[in-house]
Amino acid sequence: MPRALITGITGQDGQHLAEFLHTKGYEIYGVIKGQANPRAELIQREFPFVELVSGDLTDLPSLIKAVDSTQPDEVYNLGAVSFVAMSFTQAELTANVTGLGVLRMLDAVRIVGGHTGNPIRFYQASSSEMFGKVRETPQNEMTPFHPRSPYGCAKVFGHDITVNYRESYGMYACSGILFNHEGPRRGLEFVTRKVSQAVARIKLGLQDSLALGTLDSKRDWGYAGDYVKAMWMMLQQPEPDDYVVATGETHSVREFVERAFAEVGISDWERYVQQDPKLFRPAEVDLLIGDASKAREQLGWKPELSFPDLVRMMVENDLRIESSKARNA
Ligand code: GDP
Repeated sequence: MPRALITGITGQDGQHLAEFLHTKGYEIYGVIKGQANPRAELIQREFPFVELVSGDLTDLPSLIKAVDSTQPDEVYNLGAVSFVAMSFTQAELTANVTGLGVLRMLDAVRIVGGHTGNPIRFYQASSSEMFGKVRETPQNEMTPFHPRSPYGCAKVFGHDITVNYRESYGMYACSGILFNHEGPRRGLEFVTRKVSQAVARIKLGLQDSLALGTLDSKRDWGYAGDYVKAMWMMLQQPEPDDYVVATGETHSVREFVERAFAEVGISDWERYVQQDPKLFRPAEVDLLIGDASKAREQLGWKPELSFPDLVRMMVENDLRIESSKARNA
């Protein structure tokens, strides 16, 4: 049975990846931080096949212990401070967890080594936020980085140190440059889920307005369930490499909002949406669109869920959750 160790197990991607690796017959370990972490319970309830081990991306000895005690074949580093807006207010924490955390995880893997004489395979969750103020469109693996937030800067460090450890120590380390990926498990702080939840609540009469920042940003939004497969595929290749994972389509926040309201039969959505200057960011990423040709050709990966289906899935999920909450209130 292959063994996988996942940081960020409580996040959207950690959950999807655990579910996917379970279907592949993996023994799965999830790194959990903190004392009495309330999200541990969710993982134990919904993913009983995941064994939790304690560790923190800011604490190297704990990571060494997590790797040593689980002896994984594959390590997926998905843990991060991942909300761009928060990275502006807690920039140092973001640099420490999202940036230096990658270095610590790589060192833990390097120090412990592989249990069967095979090297541990390492996946780093890099991000399209590294492209920031984009130098070319669409963005591919060769596009230079120009991050626009402390989060983006930290991810650039994580990406570069992954490549550097691969080149310096011959580690089997891959970096997946994933464009935005969403779904029912997305945190409520991200715009897609914030919108799908608000639309459901407005439809049910539980809320009467929705405050947003800019509606003009464009993102290449895919489905998280499709994207975690690409992570695994990267680690099954004979040689480690870096890949862009994206749909190749871009849509504005406005379009997402319009579609989400349309799902519940509301066409005059502007009545419900207000712009709040507090939600504007000090620097913005205006347009992202990825070119995933390399992943398609070398990994045989392609996205399955379309943009309209993604919006529908998220709104329907929030309608279910909100109506059941309202019933039980
Ligand atoms: P990001 O691409 O990782 O920053 O993902 P987000 O979902 O947080 O934001 C996507 C885009 O939506 C960014 O350009 C945000 O500025 C924009 N946006 C507009 N209003 C909001 C809002 O209320 N919350 C969030 N999270 N983003 C918003």
